[in-house]
Parts: sequence; structure tokens; C-alpha cells
Amino acid sequence: AITIEKIEKSFCATPVLREVSLSIADGEFLTLLGPSGCGKSTLLRILAGLEVQTGGSVSIGDRVVDGVRPKRRDVAMVFQSYALYPHMTVAQNMALPLRMRRLSSWQRLPLLGRFMPGTNAVVEEIDKVVMRTAKALGIGHLLARKPGQLSGGQRQRVAVGRAMVREPAVFLMDEPLSNLDAKLRVQMRAEIKELHHRLGVTFVYVTHDQSEAMTMSDRVAVMLDGELLQVAQPQEIYDDPDDRRVAEFIGSPK
Ligand code: ATP
Ligand code: MG
Repeated sequence: AITIEKIEKSFCATPVLREVSLSIADGEFLTLLGPSGCGKSTLLRILAGLEVQTGGSVSIGDRVVDGVRPKRRDVAMVFQSYALYPHMTVAQNMALPLRMRRLSSWQRLPLLGRFMPGTNAVVEEIDKVVMRTAKALGIGHLLARKPGQLSGGQRQRVAVGRAMVREPAVFLMDEPLSNLDAKLRVQMRAEIKELHHRLGVTFVYVTHDQSEAMTMSDRVAVMLDGELLQVAQPQEIYDDPDDRRVAEFIGSPK
């Protein structure tokens, strides 16, 4: 489980998160939903360890992760802007997290220390994982291309694939579909849900798109001005909003 306890964040004395508390169950698909600037990305980046909170505490699994570096957290993040390396092929982009991990475990494990990074056996193993993952995402035929030669949807799949090869316990996704056209967005929604079912791991998903949140999530956390207003199942948020601001944002009848 992920436990977020009274997280506060200020940038230059301006508060952007105010005592945000939230528990996310193992295997849950939870969506942070709220308008632009409400603090969604900031909260996600704090979970990933890319941003340090001003106050409060985060646990992932049984472990308090405050001060733990991003690579040492069992999470993988998919960004809105893909953040692929343009000079590397799809295969190289996807292999990167594994190569990084291999490198650091070599340094720690004396037994593996005799392998040099780039050793055939290790490279072949990584290639297999990348190929299997790429096939599962329908991009197996694109491995030799560079990001600039791909469509937006294909690029998005590479970004998801790169997160997948790490086999994280937690997926953090920050508006991963925002650059796609309407048809592809709907298609990718289903694919991300399929991924969630297949892997059974925890997803924390960020969007300002209400229909995305409502169709994909086990629970939705509605955020406004750095505060969590309501955390509930999609239907409940629509049928029974906690307060007027939630109702207004959702546009429900109440
Ligand atoms: P969007 O939907 O537009 O991505 P968001 O909900 O993800 O918005 P955040 O990126 O978390 O919003 O930003 C929350 C607030 O914090 C915004 O007012 C933003 O301007 C501010 N902010 C974010 N990062 C910084 C920073 N590094 N320095 C100063 N202010 C920041
Ligand atoms: Mg954002």
C-alpha cells in the first residue's frame, strides 16, 4: 500500500499542497483528478522522489521513503512529455532502466563483478525482456527506429514499455495520454487498463480529463487548489459529491 500522510509542499512560501492525506491499496487504480495547477504533478513527483515535500510523510509498502532516492523506490513513472532519448533507438530507450540497474548491481555484487557491462549474456537477457515487452505493447516491429520516426501513440507506448521493463510495484502516470488525438486516447485508455489487470500492480494516474478518470479508476481523488476534496469510487463522486466545488468541477446534477 501507499500511505500519504499530511503532505505539504510550498514553492517559495506559496503553498501548492495542503495537508494531503491518502491511502492507496495494493493493486488499486487510483486517479488524481483536478484542474490545471491544482498540484497533481507535484504530488506524483513527491511519490516518485523527484520532489521533496515541505512537510508530511510517504510510505510505499512497509517502508517510509522520505529522503529515499527515486531509483531506490519501487516505482516507475511515465511522463506527459514521454521523455524519450531522441538519439537512441526504441530498443535502446526501453533497455535503459535495465542497463542502469545491471550496472549498479554489478558494483554491489562481487560474484557478478567479473561480468563487464555489455557482456553478451547480459545483453541478450535484456534484449529478450525488451522484445517481449515491446511485442505485448504492439511495438515489436519498431525497435530499431528512433523516437522522431514514431507517431505520438507509438512514442507513448515506448514510454510505457520503458516503465514496464523495470517491473515496478507501483506505476505513476502523469497525463500519459494528453498529447494524443481523441480516438487514440480512448484506445490507449483500454490498453492501460488491460496492463493494470494483467500486472495487478498499483497505479497512481493523473489526469484533468474527467471521463478518463471515471472510466479507468477504482477510485478517484478530486483535487482543487492543493487540497483533496473527495476520494471515492467514480459513481459515488458523480452521484454524491461531498461539496459544491466537487459538484461544480464534475458537473453532476447536485
Ligand atoms: P497541470 O494539470 O497543468 O499539469 P498540475 O495539477 O499538475 O497542473 P502542478 O504542476 O503540480 O499542477 O503545479 C501546482 C502549482 O505549483 C502550480 O501553481 C505551479 O505553478 C506551481 N509549481 C509547480 N512546480 C513549481 C516550481 N518548480 N516552482 C514554483 N512553482 C511551481
Ligand atoms: Mg501536471
